[in-house]
Amino acid sequence: MRSFNFKSARNTKEARKLAIGRATFLAGGMSLIPAIKLRLAAYSDLINIKKIKSLSGIKISSKSLRIGATTTHAEVADSKEVRKAIPSLANLAEGIGDPQVRNRGTIGGSVANNDPAADYPSACLALNAIIHTSKRKIPVDKFFKGMFETDLKKGELIESIEFEVPEKSAYAKFPNPASRYAIVGIYIAKLKKEIRVAVTGVESCVFRCKKLEDVLSSNFSPSSIDSVNISSKGFNADIHASADYRAHIIKVMAKKAVSSC
Ligand SMILES: Cc1cc2nc3c(=O)[nH]c(=O)nc-3n(C[C@H](O)[C@H](O)[C@H](O)COP(=O)(O)OP(=O)(O)OC[C@H]3O[C@@H](n4cnc5c(N)ncnc54)[C@H](O)[C@@H]3O)c2cc1C
Repeated sequence: MRSFNFKSARNTKEARKLAIGRATFLAGGMSLIPAIKLRLAAYSDLINIKKIKSLSGIKISSKSLRIGATTTHAEVADSKEVRKAIPSLANLAEGIGDPQVRNRGTIGGSVANNDPAADYPSACLALNAIIHTSKRKIPVDKFFKGMFETDLKKGELIESIEFEVPEKSAYAKFPNPASRYAIVGIYIAKLKKEIRVAVTGVESCVFRCKKLEDVLSSNFSPSSIDSVNISSKGFNADIHASADYRAHIIKVMAKKAVSSC
C-alpha cells in the first residue's frame, strides 16, 4: 500500500477545501481501503468525513425520506422512521454484507462508489432519489453513469440522499453467499405517478427494466411477469452465474418483490 496523508474534516466546507489534487473522501472505508490495499487505487490524501455531524442522520416528511451521507447501513436498518416510511429500504440495508460492514459502511459511500453489484443504487433508482451534493441536486436518472462511475465531479461531496416515499415497494436479492453482494437484485417501487423497477448485479451499472415497468403498470401482480421475455444480451457472466441464469433470476426476484409489496 502506498503512503498517504490522513486528514479529518470538521465540517463540509473544510472537507471541500481539503479535497484537492489526488485527495479523496474516506467514509466507512469498506470499499476504499481494500481498493488501496490491492493497489487498484492510490491517493495523496484521505479526507475523513465521518466526524462531520451535519452529514449524518435521517429526516422524514410526508413525501420524502432524507438520509445523511455518512449514515451507516446498520443505522438505516435499525431506524424506526425508515422502517415505517419505506420498509423495503430498511430491509435492503439489513441485507448488506455482514455486521462489521453494516456498522462501518455508509449510504453515501455506497452510492458514490456505484459498485455494479451494490444494493443502494437500485433503491435510489427505483425510489426516484435526489442526490444532494456540496454543489447541486442531482436527479438519480442522471447520476449513475457506468461501472464505478457517477456524475460526481472531482471534490464534490454527497451530503444526503432524498428518497420519494412510495405507495408500496420491495427489494428482492439473490445474494452472493460469501459477500452478500447482489448476483441479481430487483427493487420495485409503486410511486404516485409511476412504477419503477431497478436491477443491480446484472450489468456494469444499475439500470431500469422498462419491460417489467410496462407490464406492472398495467397489472401489478406476480403473474403479469410471466409474459416478459428478458434477453441476456450484455449481462454479466462470471463464476457465480451465467448471463442466461441472471436473466432467469431477474423474473424470479421480480415476482418475489411484487408478492412482498
Ligand atoms: C466484505 C464486504 C461485503 C460487502 N457486501 C455488500 C453487499 O452485500 N451489498 C452492498 O451494497 N455493499 C456491500 N459491501 C460494500 C459496502 O456497502 C460499503 O460500505 C460501500 O460500498 C462503501 O461505503 P463506505 O462508507 O465504506 O465508503 P468508502 O469505502 O469510504 O468510500 C467508497 C468511495 O466513495 C467515496 N465517498 C465516500 N463517501 C462519499 C461522499 N459522501 N461523497 C462523495 N464521495 C464519497 C470515497 O471517496 C470512495 O471513492 C461490502 C463490502 C465488504 C468489504
